[in-house]
Amino acid sequence: MTRTADAQASDPNDVAPAIEGLETIVSLSKRRGFVFPSSEIYGGINAVWDYGPLGVELKNNVKRAWWRAMVQDRDDIVGLDAGILMHPQVWVTSGHVGSFSDPLVECGSCHRRYRLDELPGAEELSVGDLADPGVIARFHLVCPNDGGPLSPPRQFNLMFQSYMGPVQDEGSIVYFRPETAQGSYVNFKNVRESSRKKIPFGIAQIGKSFRNEISPGNFVFRMREFEQMEMQYFVAPGGPPAAEAFEAWLPRRRAWYEAYGVDPARLRFREHAPDELAHYAKKAIDIEYRFPFGWKELEGVHNRGDFDLSRHAAASGQNLEYFDPATEEHFIPWIVETAAGADRAAFTFLIDAYREEEVKGEKRVSLALHPDLAPYKVAVLPLLKKRPEIVELCHRIKDDLKRDVMAVYDDTAAIGKLYRRQDEIGTPFCVTVDVDSLEDGAVTIRDRDSMTQERVSVDQVRRVILDRLAAARP
Ligand code: ATP
Repeated sequence: MTRTADAQASDPNDVAPAIEGLETIVSLSKRRGFVFPSSEIYGGINAVWDYGPLGVELKNNVKRAWWRAMVQDRDDIVGLDAGILMHPQVWVTSGHVGSFSDPLVECGSCHRRYRLDELPGAEELSVGDLADPGVIARFHLVCPNDGGPLSPPRQFNLMFQSYMGPVQDEGSIVYFRPETAQGSYVNFKNVRESSRKKIPFGIAQIGKSFRNEISPGNFVFRMREFEQMEMQYFVAPGGPPAAEAFEAWLPRRRAWYEAYGVDPARLRFREHAPDELAHYAKKAIDIEYRFPFGWKELEGVHNRGDFDLSRHAAASGQNLEYFDPATEEHFIPWIVETAAGADRAAFTFLIDAYREEEVKGEKRVSLALHPDLAPYKVAVLPLLKKRPEIVELCHRIKDDLKRDVMAVYDDTAAIGKLYRRQDEIGTPFCVTVDVDSLEDGAVTIRDRDSMTQERVSVDQVRRVILDRLAAARP
């Protein structure tokens, strides 16, 4: 719940983004089936995007990679899948009903609405400025669309709300969760007692969140419906255990993006200034990525102190203390949170993997996605689709591979074009069956990045591909 001004690309040591603008990725996404505008046949709905056949594979792989690193590989973290709808008191206690808002201004002539801190000329505004009714005049801000006069800022709550049950009144209001974290806090006792975890331990969750963003945009970077991957790590109270956990999680989370292929030069840390910290936070550092539109938050690591559990304990009247058998003390744990976005991470991996090069006088586009993230791991292609024995062998190999990985067969073009299509969607391996295969029982495995080709006997194909995928795994 950190509402902060987005960092601008003013770093003197700025690095170039992986791609110039978003058009290449947006059009590739549409053309190849990664991401489509939601409800497109009705003209779309702002800031909601649908994942197509390849996009859903990519995003599932991103979530799987996160779950592997945060739950499967760890003895001290367990998973949770809490409901999107929660008791409305949760959001009062957490502070969201009162203060999960952004400063909104409206143009007096064209009536467009903007987030004040995202207006041109508002980059340097302090938190105090953002709440000042005189800020528009003081900084000579005007509507970026038509130069019209802007209203003083008002706080706009970002939570979507609805009514539960048949009666629509104050008492039946429910909120669509704007973060997954609260589900972990209100389940702290259930999870601890059922899993018998001892502090320090964590609760990890992946799930949809909703925010009525004032100025969404930049494709899937800022949406109104999105998915988060958040982990809450419960530690002993007082400064040192939380500080220690914070210092451990920060580089570990950055290393996760690097392990899955993001160029380290395009990642950096940015610490929140004291006046920028959310009301609950003792310390917050963002992991930022150099997007084509500037350095922006990819993930936040937050030291939340005992704010969440203390507040929920007081408001619910439940005892949320932890009993430490070693010291025989009862206490409210402190929390260190790692808060990432599944869409933002998938978007980052896509951007950072984009390559254009010239090969034999022709442009080659490829996505150098980490094999664990690639939608398809392998494509099985016939050199001659007119030969039924070749096609049949292709299907046999593909079906065999499908037991373990996403594999696909394609014969709708000549081999050169088939390779280019697979390169463009990031398929790490192509297996080609040719006339010789029928004689020597061997096929060609082509590597996406080096474009090298290797002859492998048919009965070894599955083993070779699985070994290479395992070897690439972080
Ligand atoms: P921002 O400053 O970009 O609005 P935030 O600081 O409010 O983000 P958090 O509340 O810390 O973000 O959320 C954790 C993560 O969830 C973010 O780092 C981001 O990856 C993701 N996220 C947040 N809001 C959105 C959104 N509107 N669309 C897509 N992902 C989002």
